[in-house]
Amino acid sequence: MTDTTYRLRPVVHGQSLDPQTRCAHWHSELDIIALKMRCCSTYYACRECHDELADHPAEVWPKAEWDQAAVLCGACGHELSVAEYLACESQCPACRARFNPGCHKHSHLYFET
Ligand SMILES: [Zn+2]
Ligand SMILES: [Zn+2]
Ligand SMILES: [Zn+2]
Repeated sequence: MTDTTYRLRPVVHGQSLDPQTRCAHWHSELDIIALKMRCCSTYYACRECHDELADHPAEVWPKAEWDQAAVLCGACGHELSVAEYLACESQCPACRARFNPGCHKHSHLYFET
């Protein structure tokens, strides 16, 4: 961790969460990101976690709001905007941790495509 300004990490919700935000659904070594859903501005480990735990339907981020922080690196706590995440090539720009490249296949569950 190279970030010198201490920030409290956002709270992440999910099923069987581990400290790097892996959950009951996605738990490979690379599954370390959490996603903020637009509907409730709350981080969940994945869309399935949201749908099982939240009491409302999920909303995805429209393109006009892709500058909002919506992806959390579970390794270092860095928050990425949607646009940053889609451009980061599955690697955290802050700590260089690898993200699961397969997550991009599920982008439509979180972001308007
Ligand atoms: Zn929600
Ligand atoms: Zn999950
Ligand atoms: Zn990171």
